Amino acid sequence: MTLVRIPLTALVAGGAGFVGSHLCDALLARGIRVVCVDNFHTGRRSNVAPLENDHNFRLVEADVATDPLPEEPVDWIFNLASPASPPHYQADPVRTMMTNVVGTRNLLALAAQSGARYLQASTSEVYGDPELHPQREDYWGHVNPIGIRACYDEGKRAAESLCYDHRRDLGVDVRVARIFNTYGPRMRSDDGRIVSNFLVQALEGRDLTVYGDGSQTRSFCYVSDLVRGLIALAAVEATPAGPVNLGNPAEISVLDLARLILRAIPSSSEIVFHPLPSDDPRRRQPDIGLARDLLGWEPRVPFHEGLASTAAWFAIPEHRSVAGDDV
Ligand code: NAD
Ligand code: UDP
Repeated sequence: MTLVRIPLTALVAGGAGFVGSHLCDALLARGIRVVCVDNFHTGRRSNVAPLENDHNFRLVEADVATDPLPEEPVDWIFNLASPASPPHYQADPVRTMMTNVVGTRNLLALAAQSGARYLQASTSEVYGDPELHPQREDYWGHVNPIGIRACYDEGKRAAESLCYDHRRDLGVDVRVARIFNTYGPRMRSDDGRIVSNFLVQALEGRDLTVYGDGSQTRSFCYVSDLVRGLIALAAVEATPAGPVNLGNPAEISVLDLARLILRAIPSSSEIVFHPLPSDDPRRRQPDIGLARDLLGWEPRVPFHEGLASTAAWFAIPEHRSVAGDDV
């Protein structure tokens, strides 16, 4: 008789953050116990506060790079612990690099010791300012190793390298998701990313700040689609040979996004132009052929629907407050 091992417990590092808290919700909804580990650097306790009464949920305040990790047996480990928005990860670049390198090393050691499956939240930033469009997983990227984005881009690239060395040397079952720009409720209003900035600016009647001439592009994935992809990648029995892109291929320029939001939210705001930050990638769009083939996954939420629910979230004044955070 073959015994099927049902995953009972998932450790979610970075589980109090924007994506991590939605992942905790979705795992619990599937009957999986969750141990959420977070140091509240960029995440918020309020993101997981409603879960604290759930007997299947445990919150551990710890830094994955410097603190001991929970010792209870876990079946899956998701590593989302890292600041993700450029102003946040650039605020303390050495800390960002250490979180991604030492934190990943510590969580991989836990996976090796406990036999847990390990999923790394990597990023489209490993492609840097890509010379290939759209980006496929076999593209090695074009990253400035000494620029202001390097602490994050190179930290995530080093983390991927650690993942595959732990697979080769210790047999850890690693899965790497290269996540493209994701948006949705629970983004921080002060996190400096484009969707939160533009929505909050429009809602407050302030001008929308386009960096550069706005011709650079991004492709935005709604958070519920991403979380479904992360769980599919963790659950699939045949371990993918390498990283898998998760994102929405619908590409839009920064200027068009500003115009779209001004049409959707009646406001007195206008568009103003600010200098382009250095090393800002020109174009970004995932090729999701691998995710379609291996996971049967693709995004479902149209941009106008996702933007409407994110705008509804930011329309609540307390969701625009920034009190009580580490950064
Ligand atoms: P976020 O900042 O909201 O969440 C990150 C979480 O990690 C926060 O709760 C933070 O407090 C926690 N954290 C940071 N350093 C830690 C440490 N040393 N120890 C323990 N916890 C720590 O960001 P997010 O948008 O939810 O991103 C989650 C993950 O997904 C990140 O790893 C990010 O790199 C990756 N990612 C996100 C996007 C996106 O568009 N949101 C795109 C690509 C990759
Ligand atoms: N951006 C912008 N105005 C803002 C915030 C961001 O024009 O108020 C631009 C930024 O320069 C980049 C794009 O929007 O070209 C996406 O930025 P974000 O920080 O959201 O993500 P990332 O650059 O990491 O993809």
